[in-house]
Amino acid sequence: VIATIAELVGELERTAGATASVGVSMPGSISAATGLVQNANSTMLNDRPFGRDVEAALGRPVRLANDAHCLALSESADGSGAGVESMFAVILGTGCGGSLIFGGRIVDGPNRCGGEWGHVPLPWAGSDEMPGPDCWCGRHGCLETWLAGPALSRDHARATQEELSAAQIAARAAHDDGARASLDRHLSRLGRGLAMVVNLVDPGVIVLGGGLSNMPHLYERLPAAIEPFIFAARPTVRILPPSHGDASGVRGAARLWDDARWGSSSWQG
Ligand SMILES: [Zn+2]
Repeated sequence: VIATIAELVGELERTAGATASVGVSMPGSISAATGLVQNANSTMLNDRPFGRDVEAALGRPVRLANDAHCLALSESADGSGAGVESMFAVILGTGCGGSLIFGGRIVDGPNRCGGEWGHVPLPWAGSDEMPGPDCWCGRHGCLETWLAGPALSRDHARATQEELSAAQIAARAAHDDGARASLDRHLSRLGRGLAMVVNLVDPGVIVLGGGLSNMPHLYERLPAAIEPFIFAARPTVRILPPSHGDASGVRGAARLWDDARWGSSSWQG
């Protein structure tokens, strides 16, 4: 991984003819207590000095942040959350994560786990959703075990004995009752997970990223799945796709060097 990063940076700098600052969008985060990776669903990174290793390979300071934070930085600066005071960004991909922006800045704290929405339990779970699937983090029933792409596949397989990817399930839903039911269960769980966020921080907009965010039904049907759980009269929730598509997180990683947005809350060597 580190050799590939060094190669890519070298290639880009030769093309640009200049030395650049480097920001890295990663799963998990760098622990403030140990300087080692924590919470990465690419579990081979956990408890490794990834930040220090990248810096040593590139011979310069590097800033690293969770991929959901990078998506949030990109979209709040000049994307779907531009000009909105508070935004919650969600990654629905091989894993599941979140990031809260307030006043243009990432909300994170001493434990570097701000926005770790993927590892809280599914709220308002039904008896058929308890205790929930085992999670790699050691607990069970985490939102990631219901909402990530592999989780949708496993849920579909439990219900139908069919092994399909999330993209295949989405493609079949128009003409296959089993696939449609799996997407409906996924939508209901995503709606409850986001309703919990709205009841805590009531963001002005929620931006969806990651591979599953390309499923168009989410933008049509998600508000109705969230609103019954919101503790307010006639609630409205804005759900938007990322303006910068699948490249948004990478743009956000470059913005880690924008001190006004990230600055002291980042890991810096
Ligand atoms: Zn978990």
